[in-house]
Amino acid sequence: MLNIVLFGPPGAGKGTQSERLIQKYGLTHLSTGDLFRKHLGEGTDLGKLARTYMDKGHLVPDQVVISMVEDKINSTKESKGFIFDGFPRTTAQAEALDTMLGNNQMKISGMIALDVPKEVLKERIKERGKTSNRVDDQDEEKINTRIKVYLDETLPVAKYYENQGKFKHVNGVGEIEEIFQEISEVIDSY
Ligand code: AMP
Repeated sequence: MLNIVLFGPPGAGKGTQSERLIQKYGLTHLSTGDLFRKHLGEGTDLGKLARTYMDKGHLVPDQVVISMVEDKINSTKESKGFIFDGFPRTTAQAEALDTMLGNNQMKISGMIALDVPKEVLKERIKERGKTSNRVDDQDEEKINTRIKVYLDETLPVAKYYENQGKFKHVNGVGEIEEIFQEISEVIDSY
């Protein structure tokens, strides 16, 4: 079973690459951002709660995210594995994920980080904002907050996997296809 954490700041290309990876490897895409947006669209209580954080570019509290991921894993038993996209975003989430997977005789195969400089991220997010309908993509201040939250709260997660010998990174700037090949090479080495 392959369980991959695709890591990187907002705008790094995690969603784009995940779409290709799920096709190639037959994995289940678990994007916490997408799951929250689905709840938002359906107007659920969870969606309403998440919106208060998402609209500001802040992280949704760990326990809320962790329960949502747990439900998704438990309801997707027949999967060949998962691509975790946008999760874990804190060390507490990473620890909870290890516990959850361990309880199901599963484990993380590796984390792959996409390296993209800050200025490129900002341009990409603004460009995406023209069509994504995402409030958090359309405002310079919110974009800056999300990048700052990434640096302060999420970057330590890379260290967590590095300490387990599971961290690899690839250049996230260039042709989508080239980046995809690089990620595939890492996955094929597992
Ligand atoms: P994304 O689509 O991954 O950029 O996520 C959009 C927003 O959803 C983030 O800015 C957070 O507000 C929230 N979110 C998504 N995933 C997480 C997570 N793992 N932990 C906390 N908040 C999250």
